[in-house]
Amino acid sequence: MRKLLLWMARNPWLKERLPKLWFAKRAIRRFMPGEDAESALDAGVMFRADGISSMFTRLGENITRLEEGDETAEHYLGLMGDIQARDLDGEVSVKLTQLGFDLDVERTMAHTARLAERAAETGKTLWIDMEGSGYTEGTIAFYERLKQDHANTGLCLQAYLRRTAADIQRLLPLDPQIRLVKGAYAEPATIAYQTRHDVDANYVALAVSLLEGARAGRKVRLGLGTHDVRLIEQIAEHASAMGLPKTSVEVEMLYGIRMDQQRRLAKDGYLVRDLIAYGHAWYPWYMRRLAERPANVMFALRQMIG
Ligand SMILES: Cc1cc2nc3c(=O)[nH]c(=O)nc-3n(C[C@H](O)[C@H](O)[C@H](O)COP(=O)(O)OP(=O)(O)OC[C@H]3O[C@@H](n4cnc5c(N)ncnc54)[C@H](O)[C@@H]3O)c2cc1C
Repeated sequence: MRKLLLWMARNPWLKERLPKLWFAKRAIRRFMPGEDAESALDAGVMFRADGISSMFTRLGENITRLEEGDETAEHYLGLMGDIQARDLDGEVSVKLTQLGFDLDVERTMAHTARLAERAAETGKTLWIDMEGSGYTEGTIAFYERLKQDHANTGLCLQAYLRRTAADIQRLLPLDPQIRLVKGAYAEPATIAYQTRHDVDANYVALAVSLLEGARAGRKVRLGLGTHDVRLIEQIAEHASAMGLPKTSVEVEMLYGIRMDQQRRLAKDGYLVRDLIAYGHAWYPWYMRRLAERPANVMFALRQMIG
């Protein structure tokens, strides 16, 4: 089921047609407050009341015209102003292929640098998502360059990839800001752990290696981008055993998933940030959410019918 859904996520024929169906628009509401930025910002205001910070992303990837990347960069600059106007502790996360990475790396760098500068004006971090494995090395090399002049940038790394332990050692000297996730794409066994047990074990080991970096004096910001509360609490115990406070990690979850836990963790003194996605280009992103938990397919079907 997971493989089928991830194949559907990449299929251009389905990508063109499925999102136009009314019931698909209805089903997506579980993971998105709305398609426009205004709905996302309103959700951020709601989370603030529960002591939860936010992270915003306008969905889109693998653009085919450079102008789309230019427009996306302008959009995010405007959004940062809107976040500031609402006095939200809100950050922005972008996909490099949504800014034109497939077409022109230098233009993508110029966009990303501008966004990082704007984020720095309000003391915020600009985050870079991690995409499929064809982009891993390019994205890390891009981050290394960006980080030299823009300390306020963060990168997502995926625990299912075997290479990530080495990537962390490579990035630690840069005082990185890392969002650690399990990984959302279909990757072969040659480069990625395949079982839940192996991915989870690697997730904990990677988080601990970042915490050890922090204890050794590196300025590491660690976001745990997972809904796996068992792993989060395990990592918090490791932090505590190392003499680090609960707030040495930030819990990052997606809008619409385990909201009860997001509120509970915030109440228990964790730093919690909710990633709120919006925009029209939600199809591949939504299919990856279904693939993460096939029970969501039943949920989506029920919403379509009911
Ligand atoms: C803030 C954030 C940013 C992310 N950024 C990226 C990125 O840049 N690149 C990337 O490859 N991946 C990204 N991901 C996705 C990530 O890689 C995983 O695919 C996703 O988080 C599901 O794995 P999990 O860690 O929650 O653990 P799982 O083991 O999949 O889930 C743990 C528990 O959480 C609940 N759960 C998990 N997913 C769902 C769901 N879709 N619907 C309902 N319940 C669910 C279930 O109860 C499940 O038992 C991001 C995730 C988050 C939270």
